[in-house]
Amino acid sequence: MASLPAAPPQQGEAVEDVFADFESLVVPHVTNWQHPRFFAYFPANSSPPSILAEWLTATMAANCLLWQTSPAGTEMEIHVLDWLRQMTGIGEGWHGIIQTGAGMATLSAILTAREKALDWAGKETGLSGQPVLRVYVTDEAHSSVEKAVFLSGIGRENLVTVATDDDGAMDPGALCAAIAADRAAGFLPCALCCVVGGTGVGASDRLDTILPIAREEGLFSHVDAAWAGSALICPEFRDIARGVEMADSLVMNPHKWLMTNFDCSAHFIKSVEDFQKTMSITPAYLVTQDAEGITDYSQLTLELGRRFRALKLWFVIRCYGVAGLQQIIRNHVAWTNDLAARIGATPDFEITSTPRLGLFSFRLRPNGMDDGAALDALNARLVDAVNGDGTLYLTQTIHRGRYVIRISIGTTATTAADIDIAHNRIVALAAPLLAAADSSR
Ligand SMILES: *Cc1c(COP(=O)(O)O)cnc(C)c1O
Repeated sequence: MASLPAAPPQQGEAVEDVFADFESLVVPHVTNWQHPRFFAYFPANSSPPSILAEWLTATMAANCLLWQTSPAGTEMEIHVLDWLRQMTGIGEGWHGIIQTGAGMATLSAILTAREKALDWAGKETGLSGQPVLRVYVTDEAHSSVEKAVFLSGIGRENLVTVATDDDGAMDPGALCAAIAADRAAGFLPCALCCVVGGTGVGASDRLDTILPIAREEGLFSHVDAAWAGSALICPEFRDIARGVEMADSLVMNPHKWLMTNFDCSAHFIKSVEDFQKTMSITPAYLVTQDAEGITDYSQLTLELGRRFRALKLWFVIRCYGVAGLQQIIRNHVAWTNDLAARIGATPDFEITSTPRLGLFSFRLRPNGMDDGAALDALNARLVDAVNGDGTLYLTQTIHRGRYVIRISIGTTATTAADIDIAHNRIVALAAPLLAAADSSR
């Protein structure tokens, strides 16, 4: 901030000067999400075809709010998401929308669930006087669900956290019991939000055990597969989403793990009509002639203006081909398993959550060191040491009450050699911390 002039320039500057400042002031100070050893959070990857298409999108600068404001934008969005539907094996009957992010998809799903439960009375008269709605999740759900629940006026208190089994999957018996108790107490159960590939350690609900309950009980169901959804392009990884065809709404982010740069979140919905009834509004200046049979995306989304985001997904799928994309994801998963095996076999290290696709967690656990708080502190020192060193980037989470270190592999540029470098560096940086912990005992 201090390097930037406080006031804007009165006269235009030479682009060479602006570019030189970009290189010296901006590039050294961004977090390098595309670095081959970015193993933090989840990937937000990119690729050359995606970047080229993004450039073209910016050059055309079309606003795809209505079909007639950019027919190719709308037609390609419908088409390329149908490709993705086929690639991921999620079944028939889905309609695709590209959203800014999974959070936006989840918010629009919750708003639709709310209105459907209230027979679209909430949008007309407000929520006061309406039954109190309830939404069901587990504690593996992403914070965007909680945010959607409070932003939609349902209220945070009405987000019900259902118990899970040891794998972090929602317990179907506990879900039935929670719904029954809520009905008995006069609440109106309205939505079930499932997660496939949770953010902490990659846990998934077993959709085939809980989506039938949502159907039976008349609840709207939304599946958040923001990260893991991309892996469904490989048939051998589809088990985590078994039963997904029963859901009403599903989100996955090609902008995480499908070589397509942010923003490109694929939202699949079953009922276009439900979303349209919740979100459409047509002022006189947006009325289009001959609108029969065409899709006006802004009528089923929160946002009005929309970028031509389908173009980059089309470029990516065409340039890599399905087989090329599958190979990249298979490599990431294989390297994740490999690194977890190596770390698990290293003395004083333990795996704290088994690899799930491209994610696992671990911690240092020297023999004889049993104090939970001391172990948490030791592992926090390792994360600091690794990130301070700069060879690779890691983040942490709390799993079953303990501090654990996450490794998430999914950047386009990562190679097998980066996995070796990462392992060696982690072990080398842990050595002095282990020695210090040992001598202090
Ligand atoms: C990343 C992630 C989100 C948020 O995605 P955005 O596209 O950034 O809104 C939501 N849910 C899960 C499971 C995620 O991994």
